[in-house]
Amino acid sequence: MIDLQERIIREVLREGSQKLKDSETPWLDATVLLASLLKCSREKLLASYPERLEEELFHSFMDLIEKRRSGHPVAYLTGSKEFFGRSFFVEQGILCPRPDTEVLIEAALDQIERRGYRRIHDLCAGSGCIALTLALENSELRVSASDISSTSESVFEKNRNNLCAGNVKFRLASLLKGLEGPLDLIVSNPPYLTTVETEDRMDQNWREPALALDGGEDGLDLIREIIRDAPLLLNKKGMLMMEADPRQMDEMERLMGAAGFDKIKRVQDLASHERVIQGEIP
Ligand code: GLN
Repeated sequence: MIDLQERIIREVLREGSQKLKDSETPWLDATVLLASLLKCSREKLLASYPERLEEELFHSFMDLIEKRRSGHPVAYLTGSKEFFGRSFFVEQGILCPRPDTEVLIEAALDQIERRGYRRIHDLCAGSGCIALTLALENSELRVSASDISSTSESVFEKNRNNLCAGNVKFRLASLLKGLEGPLDLIVSNPPYLTTVETEDRMDQNWREPALALDGGEDGLDLIREIIRDAPLLLNKKGMLMMEADPRQMDEMERLMGAAGFDKIKRVQDLASHERVIQGEIP
């Protein structure tokens, strides 16, 4: 413990990151938390190393470090998460956007451009990171989104306002029930962990909601329903594109084939794992 009246930022960060040694990224976590507390960028924080930190801020920082240590995601503590170059508001009850999902954005933008898709729907929209990113990347799209969670509805609306994506409609709905077609492209990052994997995470004090993670016994419960119902809403030549676990891709390809999709293709994430699968209505 440092007992200077005013604390040097570098030492504060070192102390914070030492307490987070069970995190995969202790230094990153500590710097992101302190930058958020000081309302400055990480770059500015790191550049201002020799500056001193007031006592009160030091205690607020250590409170954040304690919360992080007990399992709160950094994004819940700072209230935001970067995704595809934009900052999304997040809070407890919402899946934090993940870099893996940026692969789905790139694949979707690619298909939108190649095939001239215009009417896009995001299922299990959560924070809105997929729907709002697509709408902001291409202003010609008509994007809508849905989720079963009312936390998603309020977080989505906050992000839509913060990011000025006013034309994206949100609807509270269970998967495709009550949605209106015809659509050119359905995108989704549905819950796809198995129930055992979800329970393991809950046992480790995971703070994200099981509702956003648990896809049933083999993780495919919601995915099966989406594959079954999507063809009813999609235009001819329309497409379904989903994120899932690499181990689920073979079975998903089989299910999509049986539901009438063709041109089924898998897309790899940054770690070269098959993370996204897409298929077209003939
Ligand atoms: N990829 C996420 C994880 O492993 C799971 C996201 C999801 O179920 N949609 O934490």
